[in-house]
Amino acid sequence: MQHMIQSPDSPEARRYNQLKRWLSFADLAVGFIFLLILLVTGWSARLRDFALGPGEPRNYYVAIILYVFFLLVISKVLSFTLELYAFRLERRFHLSEQRFRSWLWDETKTFLLSFVLATIVVELIYATIRFAPQNWWLLAWTIFLALFVLMAQIAPVVLFPIFYKFAPLDNDELKSRLVKLGDRAGMPIRGVYEWKLSEKTKKANAALTGLGATRRIILADTLLQNYSTDEIEAVLAHELGHHVHRHILKSIAVQAAVTFAGFWLASEVLHYAVDSARWFESLSDFATLPLLVLVSTVMSALLMPVLNAYSRFNERQADRYCFQSVRSVEPFVTAMNKLAEQNLAERQPSKWVERLFHSHPSISNRVAAARAWTASAPKIAKSH
Ligand SMILES: [Zn+2]
Repeated sequence: MQHMIQSPDSPEARRYNQLKRWLSFADLAVGFIFLLILLVTGWSARLRDFALGPGEPRNYYVAIILYVFFLLVISKVLSFTLELYAFRLERRFHLSEQRFRSWLWDETKTFLLSFVLATIVVELIYATIRFAPQNWWLLAWTIFLALFVLMAQIAPVVLFPIFYKFAPLDNDELKSRLVKLGDRAGMPIRGVYEWKLSEKTKKANAALTGLGATRRIILADTLLQNYSTDEIEAVLAHELGHHVHRHILKSIAVQAAVTFAGFWLASEVLHYAVDSARWFESLSDFATLPLLVLVSTVMSALLMPVLNAYSRFNERQADRYCFQSVRSVEPFVTAMNKLAEQNLAERQPSKWVERLFHSHPSISNRVAAARAWTASAPKIAKSH
């Protein structure tokens, strides 16, 4: 008999998630309008001339670095208010106690990191355009993919530590349970790390990251502090499910297909803009950059619901793996409810909100799946 009925979401949770959604719409709109203005007004060409400098033009690749820098500075100025609002929102809803200075330092690091990464990608694109004007997109896609795999590999050891501290998990009970989970799956666990998330947020999180030698499970300290060993084991079993089903590798394959189409489309649009419409003098004119970014922005916005549906499919698979590997789904259910509370998540968002924007099934659906699994599972194979 079950007397527990999902409590409806608090007005606070509804309000918070509504504001977060509006914030991401606004952010997308600002970026979109900025790119459009750059192209329509010819400011992109002026910015290019400025980057090339007066008189004898600067080296092409040096000018690209300057151009990317200007573009990023302007877009940072434009989006800063929204980012500041997002920071204050977390504090207003008591989800974070991060100080303003610490946040500003994170913003600075994010800016520098995106400047470095964007410069690499943009240089790469225009170098391939110059080298192979007709088939540049294929070449650029191949190199991009290699970079992407490299990034996935080095992220846990190089990128994440820029923002967060990590330490090997210091809990023997949990570690031994994890080894058992891994043994049963026939998948040795490479490493489990405590992720010091509490400096930035009160929300809890866990993830499977890295590739090959850097593959690891990271568990937020905000999770380790507030959840029972059984609950953490359920979370770990879910993350292990991602690994057993090779979700990182599959997601990279999906990304590869999406970017293949994206690079092809960008090349078609670029050829149209230069060869037919004559908006730009040559393919290698880097004033075309906002056009390429616009193609990728529109494409990712349109594909978001599809990619989210794929992600939810993976999450359900990882959940089912968890149900199979733990003694009882009860700790999973209580962990989910704690997570909803702690992260101020909507347990029951409207159907279309879940379909369009959520990378994870809603908490109410995940809990319902756990209950359904218990109800239908044979009562054997429960003796470990
Ligand atoms: Zn997951």
